[in-house]
Amino acid sequence: MLNDMHVHTSDSPDADIPAGRLAQKGIETNLAAIGFVAHLDLNPEDYCYGGFNAAFYDESIACARNESKGRITVLKGLEIGEPHKYEEQVKNLVDYSNYDFITGALHSVEGIGMVLGREVFANGDPLEIVEEYYTETLRMVEISDIDILAHIGLFRRGLALADLRYDFNELELWPDTIDNILRVIIDRNIALELNTSGLRRKEEVTYPIPCILERFRELGGTLVTIGSDTHRESHVFFGLDQGAELLLETGFKEAYTFLERVPQAFELA
Ligand SMILES: [Zn+2]
Ligand SMILES: [Zn+2]
Repeated sequence: MLNDMHVHTSDSPDADIPAGRLAQKGIETNLAAIGFVAHLDLNPEDYCYGGFNAAFYDESIACARNESKGRITVLKGLEIGEPHKYEEQVKNLVDYSNYDFITGALHSVEGIGMVLGREVFANGDPLEIVEEYYTETLRMVEISDIDILAHIGLFRRGLALADLRYDFNELELWPDTIDNILRVIIDRNIALELNTSGLRRKEEVTYPIPCILERFRELGGTLVTIGSDTHRESHVFFGLDQGAELLLETGFKEAYTFLERVPQAFELA
């Protein structure tokens, strides 16, 4: 049985499936646990800026737990955009004891803009933007209070939309920066998410690309999560099996969920 640790409920402005319905779908798909997230974005440029309501989200989760009656483990997470930039605001807005896990996500690069879309890549050198993305990811994992590092490599979505090349290998281009990110998350017990949403897009790759997963394992990393980044009916839980397969091929026997911010292993085979 698999678990999906990145599922958006209709509590995110860019998603439209209620938590109760997703839990039902999870039961039908035979998931053991479903890790819900809501976007908390404090960057005014972000589409989801201002869209988080903690009380409504609490209610959604309670509803999903109620309706599913223990047939699936409902985990309550939060996906914070650029948590390193909004430390104080996040502290004021988020009661950490109220969540099973906190995911840190870099959607925007300082001074450059949103890397999920094509616009930023029209105006700058794509590889310079990607290098900055990783430099800032390092800053984010160094200081943020997070359990999971979400979707590294998400810029491939923007590159693909801009019809630019995305078949480069960042581990070869910036080995020290990538190694530093991986070493920091290992030291800080932050899990590396294998996000399968790129598999349903033009770029058809996971975030991160497989060689980064391999490097993470080589460096001694064990904490990995799988997440589909579900937002809509058309792609509910997309790519979980493929993600699990990739983890097994890379040598991971277990992946993780988080319960009250403590990692819980589950068998991948
Ligand atoms: Zn995200
Ligand atoms: Zn997400």
